Amino acid sequence: MSNKDNLTQLSELGEFGLIQRISEKIKLNNISTLKGVGDDAAVLDYNKDQIIVTSDMLLENVHFNLVYVPLKHLGYKAVMVNLSDVYAMNAKPEQITVAIAVSSRFTVEAIDALYDGILLACEKFGVDLVGGDTTSSQSGLIISITAIGRANKNEIVYRNTASKGDLVCVTGDLGGAYMGLQLLEREKEIFNANPGIQPSLDGNDYILGRQLKPIARGDIYEIFKDLKLMPTAMIDVSDGLSSEIMHIGFGSKLGAKIVEEKIPIAPETINLAKEMNLDPTVCAMSGGEDYELLFTINPDDYDKIKNSPDFTVIGTMVDEAEGFLLISRDGTPVGIESQGYNAFLKSKE
Ligand code: ADP
Ligand code: MG
Repeated sequence: MSNKDNLTQLSELGEFGLIQRISEKIKLNNISTLKGVGDDAAVLDYNKDQIIVTSDMLLENVHFNLVYVPLKHLGYKAVMVNLSDVYAMNAKPEQITVAIAVSSRFTVEAIDALYDGILLACEKFGVDLVGGDTTSSQSGLIISITAIGRANKNEIVYRNTASKGDLVCVTGDLGGAYMGLQLLEREKEIFNANPGIQPSLDGNDYILGRQLKPIARGDIYEIFKDLKLMPTAMIDVSDGLSSEIMHIGFGSKLGAKIVEEKIPIAPETINLAKEMNLDPTVCAMSGGEDYELLFTINPDDYDKIKNSPDFTVIGTMVDEAEGFLLISRDGTPVGIESQGYNAFLKSKE
């Protein structure tokens, strides 16, 4: 039974039909993938390398809102979130598994769009989709992805191995994904109040892209190799700079000093933050979802990165007793707190 828009109900395909449809689109890239979809489990061969495994689960109306997130973008982003975690270990992702729970309100075409995004991400990053699970849900869409990667034992970079005096560095710019979300939320509210008004998203492509289609920093994995640079500690920026620097600091039994004026924030992020009466620095510190890499290096390695447009040095690791400080533009040190998203909104009311 097809509905009036020629969409196909999932019940027409059934679980096995859906898995068949998904598996037909899969291409395998890595020699480590001995067996992908089709048996009881995938089989991987990592030779002498160590294996990195990470999972993230995304729930509709908790982590994403299908009112303004296209399913293709959602699939793409769900993969990025996981690849970012593998890159944050200085490892190379090679496989993912994807488990989905779908309610009957989704059509076959909707799941196709989701997998178009998932498979596009796999193709771009040379990752193989090797398995998953498909089940029904009573309450919307759930996507759980597991990524598997490889690293030579000596190359894995942990969070808890920074040293006092190490430089704190970050890739790209911060706060953009948070401002993209604020913009989407604002336009949703306006639309709900006046359904006749079209959203005004023009001129904000950069920050919308940061929210809707983040890019895991696989390029940095290669750049570190080219520069012969091993960070002393690393984490990806999924929850905002405040939380991430504290993860490195607490893990390494150190504190950190971050210099506000050094924090890289894109002009588009600053402009929209000001328009919405938000402090751009707070967006970078507490926003999240930027999927950049935050890492520390030995000061002797500074020459390797100083001319690179990919990296910004934003601070230093200090004694544990000094805690976590943001040196503001006028030189005043302010204690860094790892505010969650809600606390951040409250402080702005
Ligand atoms: P089992 O009953 O043994 O769990 P399934 O019927 O769930 O097997 O899965 C059959 C094959 O299809 C397995 O290789 C599994 O990894 C793969 N698979 C199931 N669902 C998905 C999915 N949503 N995406 C990718 N592969 C899937
Ligand atoms: Mg199964």
